Amino acid sequence: MQAVRTAPIVGQQLRRLGVGSSWPRALLGQTPLGLARRPYASGATQAVLEKSDPLSPEASTQEKQAKAESKSFAAGMFRGQLTTDQVFPYPSVLNEEQTQFLKELVGPVSRFFEEVNDPAKNDMMEKVEETTMQGLKELGAFGLQVPSELGGVGLCNTQYARLVEIVGTHDLGVGITLGAHQSIGFKGILLFGTKAQKEKYLPKLASGETIAAFCLTEPSSGSDAASIRSSAVPSPCGKYYTLNGSKIWISNGGLADIFTVFAKTPVTDAATGAVKEKITAFVVERSFGGVTHGPPEKKMGIKASNTAEVYFDGVRVPAENVLGEVGGGFKVAMHILNNGRFGMAAALAGTMKGIIAKAVSTMPGQKSHGPPSHVALSP
Ligand SMILES: Cc1cc2nc3c(=O)[nH]c(=O)nc-3n(C[C@H](O)[C@H](O)[C@H](O)COP(=O)(O)OP(=O)(O)OC[C@H]3O[C@@H](n4cnc5c(N)ncnc54)[C@H](O)[C@@H]3O)c2cc1C
Repeated sequence: MQAVRTAPIVGQQLRRLGVGSSWPRALLGQTPLGLARRPYASGATQAVLEKSDPLSPEASTQEKQAKAESKSFAAGMFRGQLTTDQVFPYPSVLNEEQTQFLKELVGPVSRFFEEVNDPAKNDMMEKVEETTMQGLKELGAFGLQVPSELGGVGLCNTQYARLVEIVGTHDLGVGITLGAHQSIGFKGILLFGTKAQKEKYLPKLASGETIAAFCLTEPSSGSDAASIRSSAVPSPCGKYYTLNGSKIWISNGGLADIFTVFAKTPVTDAATGAVKEKITAFVVERSFGGVTHGPPEKKMGIKASNTAEVYFDGVRVPAENVLGEVGGGFKVAMHILNNGRFGMAAALAGTMKGIIAKAVSTMPGQKSHGPPSHVALSP
């Protein structure tokens, strides 16, 4: 198990929190295969399905052939044959080792959110409580997709999505804090960073020693990201850029030490000599000076996540902190969003499952311990 071998602290912490208890096993939904393949079937339907097993020895050879030939789910229904793979063709991308590692993580992460984190308190304080932040750092939750050799847990997208789903189930404010940090905040370094940039920034970001934010949106530029006005002018010596501009609604804007910032830079066309303004991405440290932020925005929900304006006032950014190519920043931004936004969908799927489970468990006649089996999370 590569990630466990190379990230021993994470492995130890996760195990200390209780891998192997009965709760994770229940959560993983280790139901018999037949039931798992027909999650929507009532007891009566299940009995019928089992009775009319299309491949039972009693079925005639002719019937077997006809049934085996059909690739239509609807046609199959008329024959009492529900081939769920035909309507839920989810790819199975994890190998055995990755599946096992994920199973080992699911239980402890769930337990952390049930036993340590207090979502109501976070919401009331409009910030994530320090004990939760510290616990998440110890768990390795700030560097889930950072390669293990750089101090992260080394998860693939599928494994990441499963854990993020748990976070979204319990506390979306925490989810935004973690997601803004790794789904978009430092994702550019993972995707486009040079070896030197990765080695310099990722270990501290993975441990949570530094927090990241993604700075694209401006007062005059939202969906239309290409219309940003922040500028980064190269110095005559070519060693640094001077960055000026302001960004709005930046998640982690008031907490972050490392910012992925998009600004317009003059780019000379080699063929024509014409100078055009194009977007370039930069890794900006708060410690460069000239980086400030506004007060946390008052939001209607996800109050525990920090959202703030961030100002860049004459910030000197070293040329080696350009992320990707000069003038290639729009591509960098879109790749980060395309690659990172699935985390948002995974978190919100968890939120919806959690809400349904809560609603059902508070209905008259429901016992209040644990989510009902039909809305329990699957691995
Ligand atoms: C809680 C929160 C956290 C955020 N965190 C970050 C962050 O960390 N980093 C960051 O950079 N940004 C962040 N944002 C900003 C977010 O990315 C923007 O809100 C988003 O890009 C949309 O921009 P906008 O709000 O200006 O809406 P607009 O671009 O003004 O769009 C408003 C509406 O018009 C529609 N619309 C826009 N253009 C068209 C068109 N051409 N045709 C048809 N319909 C159109 C949109 O779909 C939308 O429904 C955050 C926002 C919020 C609310």
